[in-house]
Order: sequence, then C-alpha cells, then structure tokens
Amino acid sequence: MSILQMKGIVKAFSGVPALRGVDFEVKAGEVHALLGANGAGKSTLMKILTGAYQTDEGSISIDGEQLQIHSPQDAKAQGVQCVYQEVDTALIPYLSVAENILLDQLVQAKGTDLIRWPRIYSQAEDILREFGFSISVKKQVEACTLSEKQLILIARATVQKAKFVIFDEPTAPLSNRECERLFQIIAQLKQAGVGIIYISHRLPEIFQICDRITIMRDGQRVHTTETAATDMDEVISHMLGKSFAEEFP
Ligand code: ADP
Ligand code: MG
Ligand code: MG
Repeated sequence: MSILQMKGIVKAFSGVPALRGVDFEVKAGEVHALLGANGAGKSTLMKILTGAYQTDEGSISIDGEQLQIHSPQDAKAQGVQCVYQEVDTALIPYLSVAENILLDQLVQAKGTDLIRWPRIYSQAEDILREFGFSISVKKQVEACTLSEKQLILIARATVQKAKFVIFDEPTAPLSNRECERLFQIIAQLKQAGVGIIYISHRLPEIFQICDRITIMRDGQRVHTTETAATDMDEVISHMLGKSFAEEFP
C-alpha cells in the first residue's frame, strides 16, 4: 500500500513564513482532510506537492523513496494531480471544454496528425457522461459558469489515473447535486486505491467523506485524528488553539 509523506516542509514568501516545518502523510485508499483557518498554509503545502511552489526545506517521498518535484510536470509524472482552488488559473479560457479536460494528452501529442479532434471530443463526451456532468464539450471555457469550470477540473484530475489527487475547496462553486456527485467520484477513487487529500471548511462534508483529518494552524500541523473524527471538540479545539467551551462559554 502506497504512502505519500511530506516531512519538515518549510516555506516563506519574501521572508514571511507560511509553513514552519510541516509533516503530513496520506495513504492509498484514504480520504485525508486538511482543515484550518484561512491563511493556515493548506494551499501552500499542496502547491509544494504539485510543483507549483518550491520548498525552502523538507522532503517528499512515496513509499520511502524521495521525490524531486521541481515542476507541475514532475508532480504529474509521480502520479500527483490537483483540483486547484483558483479555478480560472488552471484553465485555458479560449480553448474548449474537451481540450481543457484532455490538456495533458494534447500537450504530449507531437507531429501533425496526432491530434484527431473528433476523437478528442468523443473522448471528452464519454468522460463527462460517465461522471454525470452535462456540459457541451465544444463550448469555450470562457463561456462556462464557475461550477462548470470546477467540474472540468475535477474531470481532468480524475481521468489521469493518478495515485494521489488533491481537491482544494472543490465544493465552493458546486450545487448540492454536484457535490453529491463529487462525493461519489471520490468514493470510487478511494475504492480504486487512490489517496485523496481533501481541503474544505465545510465540516459536514468532511465528516461525511473523510477517513482522517489533519488540522493546520499558523503554518504548522497541530493535530491528525486517528480515524474519521467522531468528536467535534477534538477538531474545533485544534483549529482554535483552545477548547470549544473556552471559546464559547
Ligand atoms: P490556506 O490555503 O490555508 O488559506 P495559504 O497556503 O493560501 O493558506 O496561505 C498561507 C500563507 O502564505 C498566507 O499568509 C498567504 O498570504 C501566504 N501566501 C500564499 N501564497 C503566497 C504567494 N504566492 N505569495 C505571497 N504569500 C503567499
Ligand atoms: Mg484560503
Ligand atoms: Mg487555500
């Protein structure tokens, strides 16, 4: 069983610390929530894992083998995919839905006759149908709604047969029905042995779908639950740095 580990991750932006030596791990077939106030460092930690940022210190390994992740391409080659919080920056607005979903395949295509557009469209149609998302594959992404854009990112990240998938606040733009569909997709990934890192502020969905919770505060990991949390005070007190009762007497 695969395990991805981050150890002693340190990162500062212009001398201002964002991560102060964070240890974090996620196992294959686990949905691991990352929880913490805005600015705690969740996205920064994940961007180090996806090669979007470089660490100042610390290491990343899968099954004890050190990884060198210097770029998003390195991360993808290691089987790490991400549904980014900043939806728009991860999409190419003037390309179609199909092209954005299959972007990695398009980028890898070389030569003049390698891209067969009808096939790209039908492949994207199949993917969207399987996921139960109704979006026209030829539509330009700049004409898509925010929830459609989020579904495109979800489709792109999950179609890659990744070993680990990160979802950074994925439900914010989604309807209830789309959220439930996402949770089914995550359950299928988990069943297939994918390790999932799930960032959200929405406690009900975290309690519904996650196996463990890691709580971050001020650039540090302050707690990881042993199992799916059953104790709200355990979670909230680590987020606040004091117990629920102390905060709200
Ligand atoms: P979270 O995802 O938990 O809300 P972030 O990882 O986005 O937190 O941010 C952690 C800290 O790092 C914040 O103080 C934020 O302002 C800072 N930070 C994140 N990305 C950058 C960046 N590209 N440049 C400067 N500061 C950044
Ligand atoms: Mg934030
Ligand atoms: Mg964030």
